[in-house]
Amino acid sequence: MQRDIVKILGFGVDTFTFEEALEYITSHHGQVVTINPEMIETARKNSEFANIINSSEMVVPDGIGVQLGLKILGKDIKRIAGVEFGKALLIKAARENKKVALIGAKEEVLIQAILNLKEEIPNLNIVYSHNGYFDSDAEILAEAVKAQPDVVLVALGSPKQEFFINQLKLRLPDSVLIGLGGSFDVWAGVVKRAPKIYQQLGLEWLYRTVKEPQRLKRIFPTLPVFVLRVLKERFIGK
Ligand code: UDP
Repeated sequence: MQRDIVKILGFGVDTFTFEEALEYITSHHGQVVTINPEMIETARKNSEFANIINSSEMVVPDGIGVQLGLKILGKDIKRIAGVEFGKALLIKAARENKKVALIGAKEEVLIQAILNLKEEIPNLNIVYSHNGYFDSDAEILAEAVKAQPDVVLVALGSPKQEFFINQLKLRLPDSVLIGLGGSFDVWAGVVKRAPKIYQQLGLEWLYRTVKEPQRLKRIFPTLPVFVLRVLKERFIGK
């Protein structure tokens, strides 16, 4: 299987289906970025972050914004929700007796997420976990490397998690490492995902914004600005 990348505002996004993405990354290893419009807007102003995205081994469109952007560019690609992809990585790892590490979220959230995951996924082998509130990256990096996980899920929010993974992947070259934002909060049951109907209609962002109004300032003006930029790229050129 080969990567087939679409460029969106200068960032390459993989066009794999969910199953293909899972197959590709578990046979190739490396850093997975679950990209959204906010991350693209951040990366446009932060070249170090842009380099991390562009040098990662796989970039999947997490969320409706990037899916819409790809559609404007003529590519009908389904979104791959990080929270679902992360779970699928764990299930596959458990089935294949692989070791996993979870880094991120508040201590109590992490503990509850691990309890729930262990109950849901028999044979899940978590060899390392740490909450996401630490002062020294070096210490956590060293501990994670020592545990030699095959799959590393990092939930520190973006772009923090992508920078962290970028350091860790140098020392775990044969592992799959993915940044998952608020997924541990979902697995712990602290944050509820939108009902299926919202997800199917591409309105999960609306549900989450109504539930957590403070998210509004993250979505606006980022989402409309992003869509306008993609429209400009499509119809006027860069
Ligand atoms: N987080 C963390 N360390 C930090 C900042 C955030 O572990 O220094 C965690 C936070 O507890 C939450 C996740 O990172 O679990 C970020 O969630 P957010 O909703 O911001 O993610 P996104 O919207 O990017 O998916």
